[in-house]
Amino acid sequence: MSTHLQAVRGMNDLLPAQATLWQRVESVLSDVIMAYGFQEIRLPLLESTALFARAIGEVTDIVEKEMYTFADRHGESLTLRPEGTAGCVRAVLEHGMLHHQVHKLFYQGAMFRYERPQKGRYRQFHQFGCEVFGLPGPDIDAELILASARCWRMLGVDAHLRLEINSLGDIAARQRYRQHLVEYLQRHRELLDEDSLRRLEHNPLRVLDSKHPPMQEMLAAAPRLLDHIDDAAREHFESLCALLRLAGIEPCLNPRLVRGLDYYNRSVFEWVTTALGAQGTVCAGGRYDGLVEQLGGAATPAVGMAIGLERLVLLMETMQGGEEVAQADVIFLGQGERFTQLALPLAERLRDGLPGVRVLLAWGGGGFKSQFRKADRSGARCALILGEQEIEEGRVGIKWLREDREQIQVTQEELVDHLRVTLAW
Ligand code: ATP
Ligand code: MG
Repeated sequence: MSTHLQAVRGMNDLLPAQATLWQRVESVLSDVIMAYGFQEIRLPLLESTALFARAIGEVTDIVEKEMYTFADRHGESLTLRPEGTAGCVRAVLEHGMLHHQVHKLFYQGAMFRYERPQKGRYRQFHQFGCEVFGLPGPDIDAELILASARCWRMLGVDAHLRLEINSLGDIAARQRYRQHLVEYLQRHRELLDEDSLRRLEHNPLRVLDSKHPPMQEMLAAAPRLLDHIDDAAREHFESLCALLRLAGIEPCLNPRLVRGLDYYNRSVFEWVTTALGAQGTVCAGGRYDGLVEQLGGAATPAVGMAIGLERLVLLMETMQGGEEVAQADVIFLGQGERFTQLALPLAERLRDGLPGVRVLLAWGGGGFKSQFRKADRSGARCALILGEQEIEEGRVGIKWLREDREQIQVTQEELVDHLRVTLAW
């Protein structure tokens, strides 16, 4: 056995310097989405394999070749979730939540797909997902897209993301279109790559998704699904576009947008960027009105989206540069036993009196010079100095490290009230 223990390929550690940005992204996303009335649902990472095969579709990238599937100790086939929608539908069905009720749910966490790791594509990655049950749209489709647009604005990446939308119509129209498409693709069979030939049999719409360069011209001239959808679906799509324009979002029609999962119908959309190379889709979603029924529930209109957090964070880093984030707001400097005996309870009093303020103690001794270096590295705004003289006099020195403010001393009793005022400046 190798003596070097390493993380599993494609599964990343997030070190503290990166985790701070992740915390900000996660809290902005959940704050924004809760402002639209969404509530959090927390779901297991493991589900029965059958759930994904039934929900996502047998002939999809995910089910064919990307799932982490294994037998547990009793031989039951389990799969690490490759996406969140299937588990979410399973949960709302299992808990009987869908009887003529509307639910707006969000979740976040790790997803697993066995893919070739590269920039923006990993084997463990994270999604922030939203699902709405019980509303047929297109108003809710528009609201979901507006919520995502608000997330981009709050995170400062709105200028780098473009909305692409399409309509997949309803099942009957898709069946009719499928025939036209297969005939067309058969006529150009010699251009198809191996993947596309296989999909031609079982899932021809996915051929439209192919990035294989020699096929691009032929695909651009293929019959368009949008030209075959029924009036009701067309009306739905046109109202969605109109609602988006009313709200100041110009949707860009992409007639080849079909999405990788089988369960979508009518509105589908993606937010894409050109800043991340081939892995340019940061968020993807759409309606899936048939899925609840397909999984054994009563017919229930539904729409959802998932944001790929790694790609969103990458986009922020690419566009905004990494940011240095402070570890603390204030730091106690001093050394020796008397310092410890004083600073430890005083720091507790600060945390009691000033919730949210991050208090650090410069453990490890060293002279004041090296302690000030520690203070600087911590990013703290001010150092609270407890040298021998201060301790003797029952006082604390306050030195502002990043602002042009006078160094002063206060009594230990005054410290909490003083900082409450001065840290707010
Ligand atoms: P792609 O075409 O890039 O493989 P997908 O259609 O498989 O994407 P979805 O299943 O729609 O992706 O997942 C929604 C979002 O999750 C994607 O738009 C992307 O941001 C993110 N995502 C999907 N797979 C990965 C992965 N392996 N690593 C990192 N992020 C991913
Ligand atoms: Mg994929």
